[in-house]
Amino acid sequence: MSKAASQTTAETLADPRWAAVIARNPDVEGQFFYSVKTTGVFCRPSCAARTPLPENVSFHASAAAAQAAGYRACLRCQPTAAPLAQRQADLVAQACRYIDGCDHLPALAELAQVAGVSAHHLHRLFKTVTGVTPAAYAPAARHARLRHELRDTASITAAIHEAGYGSQARFYAVADQVLGMTPRAYREGGRDMPIEYALGTCGLGAILVAPSERGVCHIALGDDAANLLAVLQTRFPKALLEAGTAGFNAMVAAVVAFVDAPATGLDLPLDLRGTTFQLRVWQALCAIAPGQTASYAEIARRIGAPRAVRAVATACAANTLAVVVPCHRVVRSDGSLSGYRWGVERKRLLLCLEAQSAGAAPDASGTSGASVARPDGSAGSGAPVVPADAGP
Ligand SMILES: [Zn+2]
Repeated sequence: MSKAASQTTAETLADPRWAAVIARNPDVEGQFFYSVKTTGVFCRPSCAARTPLPENVSFHASAAAAQAAGYRACLRCQPTAAPLAQRQADLVAQACRYIDGCDHLPALAELAQVAGVSAHHLHRLFKTVTGVTPAAYAPAARHARLRHELRDTASITAAIHEAGYGSQARFYAVADQVLGMTPRAYREGGRDMPIEYALGTCGLGAILVAPSERGVCHIALGDDAANLLAVLQTRFPKALLEAGTAGFNAMVAAVVAFVDAPATGLDLPLDLRGTTFQLRVWQALCAIAPGQTASYAEIARRIGAPRAVRAVATACAANTLAVVVPCHRVVRSDGSLSGYRWGVERKRLLLCLEAQSAGAAPDASGTSGASVARPDGSAGSGAPVVPADAGP
């Protein structure tokens, strides 16, 4: 090896960018490119091509700089094209738009053909980017369209057809699960639908609990009972809100006891309503034991959608069951608290109390705090069991 070559080798080996090339690290994508003197091509750091010898490698700040130095773009990693993650996200976004605009439920093969990739590849990519499969996304898109049509369309029958449901019978079979009420009641903002509620006080301030026929569907925390009631009314603008009876108040007492000491568990049926993705996030939250926390990125990894960190944060923010679905146990990757629907100070207090009681009485069984009944009324424990095909 010549003196000049060994000089280059030493410089390359000492360069942190070389470590990224050896690791094919996708996280440094776009930060630099490397060229190989012997082949005359330049690559992204993550290129799958054989790792070159360090004495032949130079680094470049941009693809343009590498080209200016006389190198050609590698055919394998296409360093002059948009970054791979961007191209994948675009492809999935395109598939989503196609599903949204379809008047039928497109099969995977049809989606793959439109996208110009294999069915297997599209399926895997779609799941990585969105957290759900195309098959789960398609009904969810149709449900979303139905909700929209119900608000704008004169007739419910027309709305059902415009949202892409072939028959009314098929639609009614899923309507209750999707909307939580009949289409007419939904369209009318829950008009005349009785919703019982109870207001109480817990260690965190005022608490409002409201059940549906299936289970607890709303738990909110706040400083002020009147505000909590106003929020419930906003969610169901035309429903008849009724203060609960004595038997009902026993249920609220159970919720209050649980909120004050989450490690004790809650043995009540829950009525969780959300998109397939939201339900998966909420299930993952219920698996975090009291006294523990997880980051949004960690939850995204646990549900098998590592890139859906932002969607996980949105799903946490959409939780309507305070403490029972413990979105307060999710924090930023650096451990700092992010926002909390019911007040960030309340989140701080909750985590503090849980850490204290976890330290005082470690949960040797390793079970998580929330013990809840399944939607069908049978007893369950740990994460709430949610309907497999619940829509948005
Ligand atoms: Zn390459």
